[in-house]
Amino acid sequence: MSKVLIIGAGGVGHVVAHKCAQVPDVFTEIMLASRTKSKCDAIAASIKERIGREIQTAALDADNVAETVALIKSFQPKLVLNVALPYQDLALMDACLETGVDYLDTANYEPLDEAKFEYKWQWAYQERFKEKGLMALLGSGFDPGVTNVYCAYAQKHLFDEIHELDIIDCNAGDHGQPFATNFNPEINIREITQRGRYWERGEWVETDPLSWRMSYDFPEGIGPKDCYLMYHEELESLVQNLKGLKRARFWMTFSQNYLNHLKVLEGIGMTSIEPVDYKGQKIVPLQFLKSVLPEPGSLGPLTKGRTCIGCVMKGVKDGKERKAYIYNICSHEEAYREVGSQAISYTTGVPAMIGAMMMMTGKWRGEGVFNMEQLDPDPFMEKLNVHGLPWVVVDL
Ligand code: NDP
Repeated sequence: MSKVLIIGAGGVGHVVAHKCAQVPDVFTEIMLASRTKSKCDAIAASIKERIGREIQTAALDADNVAETVALIKSFQPKLVLNVALPYQDLALMDACLETGVDYLDTANYEPLDEAKFEYKWQWAYQERFKEKGLMALLGSGFDPGVTNVYCAYAQKHLFDEIHELDIIDCNAGDHGQPFATNFNPEINIREITQRGRYWERGEWVETDPLSWRMSYDFPEGIGPKDCYLMYHEELESLVQNLKGLKRARFWMTFSQNYLNHLKVLEGIGMTSIEPVDYKGQKIVPLQFLKSVLPEPGSLGPLTKGRTCIGCVMKGVKDGKERKAYIYNICSHEEAYREVGSQAISYTTGVPAMIGAMMMMTGKWRGEGVFNMEQLDPDPFMEKLNVHGLPWVVVDL
């Protein structure tokens, strides 16, 4: 009997709950809890209709450790799968420690009042998880997540040493909206307005936000797109865990229309996280902006096209230079047909389910806090092919 408690009923929570429900022999009972219970109930109704399974739902403020502890004690899951927001990570890890339950998330902790994400806060839980014999798996989405597993797979099977890594995230889809983000707008805009950062010869090099651009010719008919250098959280663990790495960068595609809107919004202060006084009330401009932008979950029926996310790696194998590319292509329309979501939520939700499956079946087991590349990539890669995110390896 393996019960999973999923926390967060947004775009990603919708996919994770559907994908867990598709695997009843691993996830024998599912509870979905979130701040707004009606969103959990709508997802439960969709699962009943599409898959014919009942799941339980609950209202939960995941910032409140005592509330989460009480819910865990009553439902008694084997694992807490956190797809709420990064702000909740530490409170949920505390609740897991208190109740003796394993933990998984898809994005690293970020304090609400500082647009800064790094693993130090969650890595600080290492000893406490070890002492309790518990496992915490960090970043089991696509990027971070599958990208880390691609690197582990390449390190195990394709290279003796990886010297250069470029993670390239392309969304070649179109939702037809003037401006919308594919995952939580507040988290997304905080991330992309930060200074860029990449790793070269043992140190971090900073760049102005979105100031470096390259064109990459994506496979299978997607074609060339402009990609912008950004800092992304998986770089922090990968530079520690990949042997011989000399350079690591992360790139993401943006349309000119998206960048123009972002520039205007930044220019007039709408992306700021500093509270301003509005008619005697303190409001955070970015949080207000989030409230007027489309919810990522609502983009499902509107989005057409494909995503292509992967890792281009250069290194040596048996004394010879090698360059390889591992990628997945995911169709927004197919994701919508299967679970009623666009591909960004889909490509995050599927690996979250697979990570949970790895832990609940004991294929991945350890005590302490882990990043994805620290575990055996083979069983995870095998399940990606089975559960909707097939991958391709090409020698370049
Ligand atoms: P959404 O904003 O769509 O959903 C977030 C959900 O969390 C909402 O249902 C929200 O509730 C709920 N929530 C927020 N605060 C609390 C709280 N205190 N207690 C309980 N529930 C809460 O975001 P997404 O689904 O797009 O993203 C979910 C996570 O996935 C984020 O952390 C994001 O960074 C991560 N992500 C990771 C990716 C990867 O590849 N690794 C890619 C994309 C996203 P309410 O509905 O009431 O607001």
